[in-house]
Amino acid sequence: TGSEPSTPEDNINVVVRVRPLNEKEKRDRYGMILQFPGNGQIIIESSERNNKKSRNQENVHVFTYNVVFEPGATQEDILDYSGIKRIIDMAIEGFSCTAFCYGQTGSGKTHTLTGPPDLFHGKPNLKDPRHGLIFRSFLYLFQLIKNRKDVNYVLKASFLEIYNERVIDLLNPGSARKPLAVRWSKKSRGFFVENLFTVDCEELDDLLAVLEEGMRNRAVGSHAMNDHSSRSHTMLTVHIISEQQTDGGVFISKHGKINFVDLAGSELTKKTLSEGKTLEEANNINKSLMVLGYCIASLSDGKKRFGHIPYRDSQLTKLLADSLAGNGVTLMIACVSPAQYNHAETLNTLRYASRAKRI
Ligand code: ADP
Ligand code: MG
Repeated sequence: TGSEPSTPEDNINVVVRVRPLNEKEKRDRYGMILQFPGNGQIIIESSERNNKKSRNQENVHVFTYNVVFEPGATQEDILDYSGIKRIIDMAIEGFSCTAFCYGQTGSGKTHTLTGPPDLFHGKPNLKDPRHGLIFRSFLYLFQLIKNRKDVNYVLKASFLEIYNERVIDLLNPGSARKPLAVRWSKKSRGFFVENLFTVDCEELDDLLAVLEEGMRNRAVGSHAMNDHSSRSHTMLTVHIISEQQTDGGVFISKHGKINFVDLAGSELTKKTLSEGKTLEEANNINKSLMVLGYCIASLSDGKKRFGHIPYRDSQLTKLLADSLAGNGVTLMIACVSPAQYNHAETLNTLRYASRAKRI
């Protein structure tokens, strides 16, 4: 028999990660516009920092999140304090879960989820402190299921990319020529990607191979177009199917999953139009990002929350629908730069994240 988990209390956890200034920004003496008073708060100064008037209250914004990671935070801190462990615990219990990174290009989304690309050249060193959240989550997940001798687990993983509203299988690069269809399944009452490679993962190494293979294929694709990775969304999904026999001899099976999503750069929403693209091109490139914004805005609005949420309007939101609504749990990691010249984008991201927190 299948079992339906009940809706958790907190549907969404919103954390912010602030990356350090890079060498160039330090050399060029860019000021830091963020302050961290504690208690999940972040203060962002006015954009005109050198102007004396800007010190008054009106030009300073204060936001509150579940957790704020300051520039010194390690990759291990993100695993331990972002709430991802609770999400993995819930995925094992049959919930649909998502962890996504949102933020402008260069704010640290890929660093947070996967770490630097050279980690995937050659044999991975499990202890490397640069490993990102996906790798660390895999270790945590395997540790959990190895300890549960009473439950039989089957893990499966897939890795896809959404570019220009086309779904490409990162484990099957040939699909770039013929994008995959997203369909509704009556049986599971959810959307799924037709013909997506889904790899059985018996061992930790199998999951790591999926991550590595997908990262490699993504990197190959990006040579063709410089800004490909800032315009595409990637999603690695781990399905967790469990079967357990109760004392009464009844089998209970659960099907949970966790999506790790590295979103396109949040700056795109405005930029593409000014680059002289046609409205249709611009809409396609950003559609998933914009619709995700609408869905989050609707879900966070007490009145609209139980009304129509436009999940069907983009490929990404179709695939995230079950974890954003109803039975799902979502972790949003908003990534920001602390540097003065990124003020507008950082403020946008902080606002977006603050809105999401009301879901
Ligand atoms: P995004 O994926 O959001 O475009 P990246 O993750 O590629 O951004 O980060 C941009 C650059 O900043 C990369 O060189 C990355 O290694 C570096 N970086 C990002 N976040 C951190 C961090 N927390 N600590 C050290 N370097 C970081
Ligand atoms: Mg990136």
